Order: sequence, then structure tokens, then C-alpha cells
Amino acid sequence: MRSVREVSIWPGVGVAIILLALIPAVGLAFLAVTEARHVAETSEQLQTLEATTDELDGKLNELELDDEQLAGVDATFNDLAQEIERQRADADSHGIGIALGLAAVSIMTVAGAALATRWVVRPLADLAATAEDLRIGNTVDEVEIRGPGEVRTVARILNEAVTNLRQAETQAIALADGRLDEISAHEPAAGSIGESLTTAVERLRLTLGEREEYRRRLAHEASHDALTGISNRSASLDHLNGALARAARVETDVAVFFVDLDDFKQVNDSFGHAAGDALLQEISKRLVDSCRDGDLVGRIGGDEFLVIAEPVNGEEEARMLAQRLLNLVSAPFRMGDLEVMPGASVGAALAGGRTKSSDVIHDADLAVYEAKEGGRGRAAFCDAEMRARLLSEADLDTAIRRGLTNGEFELHFQPTYHLSTGVLDGAEALLRWNRANEGTVSPARFIEFAERSDLISEIDTWVTQRAVAHLARWQQDPVLRHLKLAVNVSGRHLMRGDLSDNLLSAIKATGADPRMLTVEVTESALLDDFVTAGDHLKRLRHRGVTVAIDDFGTGYTSLAHLRRLPVDVLKVDRTFTSNLHRPDDLSLVKLVIETGHLLGLEVTVEGVEHFQQEDILRRLGADRLQGYRFGYPMSELDLRNHVMAVTRKIAART
Ligand code: C2E
Ligand code: CA
Ligand code: CA
Repeated sequence: MRSVREVSIWPGVGVAIILLALIPAVGLAFLAVTEARHVAETSEQLQTLEATTDELDGKLNELELDDEQLAGVDATFNDLAQEIERQRADADSHGIGIALGLAAVSIMTVAGAALATRWVVRPLADLAATAEDLRIGNTVDEVEIRGPGEVRTVARILNEAVTNLRQAETQAIALADGRLDEISAHEPAAGSIGESLTTAVERLRLTLGEREEYRRRLAHEASHDALTGISNRSASLDHLNGALARAARVETDVAVFFVDLDDFKQVNDSFGHAAGDALLQEISKRLVDSCRDGDLVGRIGGDEFLVIAEPVNGEEEARMLAQRLLNLVSAPFRMGDLEVMPGASVGAALAGGRTKSSDVIHDADLAVYEAKEGGRGRAAFCDAEMRARLLSEADLDTAIRRGLTNGEFELHFQPTYHLSTGVLDGAEALLRWNRANEGTVSPARFIEFAERSDLISEIDTWVTQRAVAHLARWQQDPVLRHLKLAVNVSGRHLMRGDLSDNLLSAIKATGADPRMLTVEVTESALLDDFVTAGDHLKRLRHRGVTVAIDDFGTGYTSLAHLRRLPVDVLKVDRTFTSNLHRPDDLSLVKLVIETGHLLGLEVTVEGVEHFQQEDILRRLGADRLQGYRFGYPMSELDLRNHVMAVTRKIAART
């Protein structure tokens, strides 16, 4: 804009042009005025001549001339009249000339003005309008190059400015939109605006580049697992959704595999977290290496991997792939001097036309669960039969939870017999479910199921509260006062850590004597996590609660373990009792009793149904016996009557 103002010679140029146009007009006007003056002079002379003639005529009339003299005078007069007439005609013709001259002057003036307007004023007005538009920031078109040379020069300069500004505007818009490549494709705008724009573009390009890199990094981090570098859970699920949509379009099938490492916690606990991380990286590498292009391996949990394969040709291929993944993962892994045998369970499922990822994931989940339940280190495929069975188990779950609040559960009590005193001095609380419309359901049918989920904790909590309440009541009862009460607790619940809290707070609330309470934990549960279980049991024992290892002999507790476990009682599993006639079982029971005593533990043998069994076990040195021979599991009232009857019998005998 500054440059336009600098060349503002326009008013001068305009005036000059108008003056130039006026020169011929002024000339013509001058001529017309001269002519007019001439006509006026002639007409004045004529008027004087006429007056003189009239005067002469008067004088002649006074002279009374003769005919000849008159004729001479007449002729003279005629000549004079003719001369006057000629002179007048001449003067008239001069008048027309003046009129024409004046007309010409007018026309030329108008034409000059028009020409001046067209040639100078309009281009100047255009320039002014454009300059004004520029000033207020309107979009402007280029001005037409016309008018005198100076005007055209200015118009050209203005047009350059307009072009420059327009380019700057285009680039600024592209800049605002972030279309940097487009800006680079253009010539940079000239001058300081162009320079600023180029700098802005460069800065923005740098910032955008950094931001893009940052965005890419964030996106990668958001979709990838930091440790293994493979897809994380959400990215894996996204991939699955895409795969399911693709499969539905081209009518192929997608297989989903859950690979769940077995005992991964032990690797962490025994060899440290670095070893655990290395194992996870190795497993992820093995899975990735084994996959075809387009398949996906993701890490969806601590020690859980997801493999999505497509297309997969039916159930057989899916089963085969699942087994292959299992073999791959289970191959030994060397870490320095250490050789780890990673175990895993693999669950497989086929989409089978379903497009909801959650359905397929659910199936794969069921399958891996089934594989784990089936003894780990296995691969399982979720088919219709598995789905139906697990569906009924889901019903079972709901029914149990409902039953717990509806009063469908109760505790029965099976007495234990103290061999040396011959007294029933204890009872084990056993859960009974009077399921609506189905009669009594044995815990053997639902405890194992409940132990697969948190449901067992709900059950255990219910049982421990009830059992402690019973015990508190017994302590006020002269018949039951001397009975110790044993409660079964699930290993899973024990590991969760709130079992001891639950028990201790129930004891506190009821005022029951903890020394009259025994908790029974199965040997297998203890072996799962020896250290944690030990810690929780210690807490209970510290408060006076007796701890018994249930189903002893079915696991593989080493003597070393047994010595370190905070336990008081070993309960020999009833399978040995029923097989006491076999020398192997007999010697095993003998060994357990001797070892137990060696470690200062009491030994109870369960499942005693016959006198012969009682007799053998007595000779082997067992401390207590439990079994149908001494009483079935029964209600509290029946237990009371039973204990009274037995006590009476003993009293009658002595
Ligand atoms: P367990 O702790 O070994 O309980 C003894 C099981 O043996 C009981 O089965 C009992 O009825 C049965 N039994 C007792 N004497 C004899 C006998 O002479 N011969 C035979 N053949 N069986 C006998 P039940 O009541 O069906 O309990 C099964 C298992 O369920 C229990 O085995 C225990 O592991 C679990 N359980 C029972 N009640 C509870 C509970 O309240 N909480 C938890 N967590 N588990 C429980
Ligand atoms: Ca038991
Ligand atoms: Ca048992």
C-alpha cells in the first residue's frame, strides 16, 4: 500500500490532461470571439451607413433636384443600397460562422470532458476504489490497465500488489488449514509478507512434524504393549472386529486363540521379574514368528496372549492351530544358566459367522478356562457342547448366589471320635444345599464348580459366619460344650487374604472360643502357594485356631514343606481308608501317622465306615476317626441327640 501512495501524481496528471483537452476549445472560442467582434463592428458601420443614407435622403428631398439629377442620385442610392445589402449579407454569413464556431466550441468542450473522464478520471476512480478495497480488507480484482501512461504504471503496480496479497492470502488460508505442501508448491509471496509467511510455514512445518511424530508415538503406545511391542488388548480387539467384518463379507472364518501361561507367577516369584519379562518377550516372539501375514498376536493381560488367525478352514484346522500354538509356547526356554519349561493353556474358538467380537472372545475364554480346569498344559476348543455345559454352569452360579440369600443353604455336622478317650469330641461342618425344586445337593457337586470363581469366597464367608455362630451357641450348651468345630475353607479364599479377617471378626462378634475352632484346608490348595497360605494360616493359629490339612496324602507335600507349614492336624484322605486292605495303602497310612506324630501333629483319619477299619487305625496309632461308623453328617439338633445318646451308652458301659 505504501508504494501506491508514493506515486500519487494523479491529480496533476488529470489536470494536465484536462488542460490539454481545453487548448483547442479555447482557440476556437478565441476565433469565435474575434469573428463576433468583427460582425458587431460591421453591423455598427451598417447602422451608421443607413443613418447617413436616411439623412442624405432627407437632404435630397430638401434640394428639389431635376429628373436627371434625381436619376443620378437614384443610381447612386441604388449602388449604395446594393453595397449595404452585400455588406449585410456578408455580416449575416459571419453570424452563421460565429454560431457554428460556438457550437464547435461546445461540442469540443463536451467531447474533451468526456474524453478526460474516460481516459483519466475513470481509471483514477478504479484505482481509488481498488485502493480503498485493499485498505478495508475486501477481496479485490485486478484493475484494468488503461488511461494515460502514468495511470497504467500505477495500475500495474497496484495489480502486482493485489496479486501479491492474493497469493499471501491463499498461502495464509493454506497455512491456517495446515496444507503446507500446497504453500510450498506456490511461489512465495514477495516482500516482508512473503518472508513472514515463509518463516511461519517453516515453523509450522517443524511443529507439525514434531506433533505428528508425537501423535504417532502416542498412537503406537496406545495400541501396543510396552514390554513385548505387540498389539495391546484394545488394539487386538479392534483388529478382531475388522477381521470379523471381513470374514462376514467374504464368507470365511476367523479363529481366536487365548494363550494363557500356566504358573507364570511362579517364574516371577522364583526367578524375579526380569526373568518373567524375558519369558513374556520370548513367548510373544514365538507366537509372532509362527503367525502368517495378516494374523495378529496381542498381549491382553499379564500372562495372556491373543492370536487372531484368518482365514481358517473349520474346526479341525482351528484345533490343529491351537495345538501348534501350545507346543510352540511350551518349548523349553533358556535364560542364562536357567532352563524354564513354560506351560500354557490354549483356548480356541471360531467366529462361525458371528460378527460380535465379545461373543467370540467369550467362547475362547470358556475354552481356555476348560483347558486349565482339565489340568493345564492343554488346548481346548469351544464347541456347542462346551457352550451348553458352561451355560448351565452359569445358571448354577446364579442359583447358588440366590440360594445363599434365600436360606437354601444349611450346615450339617459330622462327629469325630477321639480314639484314646472313646468320646465324640468334635464335629466337621459340611455344607448342604436344599436347592429349590431339586432337593438336597451334595457339596461335591457345587464346591468344585464354585472354586473356579469368586463364588467360593461367597460360600466360605457364609459358612464361616454360620459355623462360628453355631460354635458360640454350643459353648452355652452342656451337651455340645466340649465339641471342637471344624470348618472347611477353600484354598482360593484363603489366598485372597480376607478369610482370616472374616473368621477373626466373626469370632470377636460372637464371643466364640477360637481354641474350639479348626480350619481345614486341602493339601492341594496349600501346595498352590505354599508361602502365602502359610502366612494366612499363621495369623489364625496365632489367635488359637487349629489348622488341619484336609485330604492329606492326595497331594505331594514333602516332609520339608510339612515341617514349615503352620499346621496342627493331618486328615488322611478317605480313599486310603477304603483301601486299607491293600498293603500299599496300609503302609502309606502308617507312614503318615508316624510322620505326623514325629512332627508333633495329630492325625485324623476320615471315611471310617467299618469296625475293621477302626481296629486297624487304632493299632496304627491314629488319634481321631471320622466316618459313617461314628455318625453321618446331620443337623445340629440330630448331632445334639446323637452325642447325648453316645455319651449315655458309654456311661452305661462303664
Ligand atoms: P471333606 O472335607 O473331605 O468332607 C468329608 C466328605 O466325606 C463329606 O462329603 C462327607 O459326607 C463324606 N464322608 C464322611 N464320612 C464318610 C464315610 O464314612 N464314607 C464316605 N464315603 N464318605 C464320608 P460331603 O459332605 O459331600 O463333602 C464333600 C466335600 O465338600 C468335602 O470333603 C469338602 O471338601 C467339601 N465341603 C463340604 N462342606 C464344605 C464347606 O462348608 N466349605 C467348603 N469350602 N468345602 C466344603
Ligand atoms: Ca474336610
Ligand atoms: Ca477330606
